[in-house]
Amino acid sequence: MQTKLFHIPIPVGHENEIQEAAALIRSGQLVGIPTETVYGLGADALNPDAVAAIYEAKGRPSDNPLIIHVPKDKSWLDRYCVNVPPLAYELADTFWPGPLTMILERNTIVPDRTTGGLDTVGIRCPDHPVTLAIIQAADRPIAAPSANTSGRPSCTSAAEVMEDVGGKIAGIVDGGACSVGVESTILDLTVTPPRLLRPGGMPLEALEAVCGEIELDEAILRQMKEGERPRAPGMKYRHYAPKAPVTVFTGAPFKTAAAIAQLAGEGSGVICFEEFQDAFPGAVVVSLGSVQDKQEQARRVFSALRSFDGTEVAAIFAQCPDPAGLGLAVGNRLKKAAGFQVVEVE
Ligand code: AMP
Ligand code: MG
Repeated sequence: MQTKLFHIPIPVGHENEIQEAAALIRSGQLVGIPTETVYGLGADALNPDAVAAIYEAKGRPSDNPLIIHVPKDKSWLDRYCVNVPPLAYELADTFWPGPLTMILERNTIVPDRTTGGLDTVGIRCPDHPVTLAIIQAADRPIAAPSANTSGRPSCTSAAEVMEDVGGKIAGIVDGGACSVGVESTILDLTVTPPRLLRPGGMPLEALEAVCGEIELDEAILRQMKEGERPRAPGMKYRHYAPKAPVTVFTGAPFKTAAAIAQLAGEGSGVICFEEFQDAFPGAVVVSLGSVQDKQEQARRVFSALRSFDGTEVAAIFAQCPDPAGLGLAVGNRLKKAAGFQVVEVE
């Protein structure tokens, strides 16, 4: 299949291309779409065949549900969810458009294929004007998981989407680099207190300021065992992984840098904070950005993981940020890439 590339940096002046991308969605085709988190692989969320094609193109296990993307307009929450608690409207008011996915009871017009057979649905309003314009023009919610091939690090540019699923989908909309860089935070509002199923681009502390207590799902903190079923089915899969094995080092940055320097030589890859770039002679070094700059670390973490796939490195060592703010999401992505192979440096 020829994949058509649309360059749509902003909606204004690109109305025809937006209509064309929306028409592809309406006709059941797949389109790579830009969001502020990572690129999505979008299809009409209400069309089971279109949704099935997403799983096929990504090689995604069919029990791993998709997030549906809607405009901020609250009537869309009521169209696709039932028994919506007041807290969900408050969170939508406060954080949408933005990197927060809410798990709510689904309305049965959302097909089983989209929810992986669950009675709940993940829903969010993405903060990207081009994708919002496509959703409005299609007049359909767009189901979109991350656009990467299943198991690979997520895509934060249209070129990476082309690399992973080019030739398998009808179109890719290039809306620029992703401003956040990690996926949305997933919060389950069908339980009390609300439960964090996946840390992401919306920091936990910001959500706690509105919700009060939030419980952390265990799948965030450790590898799931055989047969265990986390509440976000996607959390049980090894994920975000480059081809070489990854080991993550937690602790004070100067200590983790010293621990990695002892191990990393010729043929190793290192993901480190900018301040320590020169500490690993002979290794292939990629900077995550400054120790303090977690926004930059979030923007770079996936391309850092991807960058080693073009090299011969046999092992990758990574410095992990502390868990405050976006550090929880960046650290989670690194640990998942490592299959939770973590060294705690005292
Ligand atoms: P991705 O967009 O590739 O990051 O994948 C979407 C994530 O959302 C996966 O981890 C899913 O397991 C999770 N998810 C989507 N819908 C639900 C739901 N109804 N309940 C729990 N988790 C969900
Ligand atoms: Mg994904």
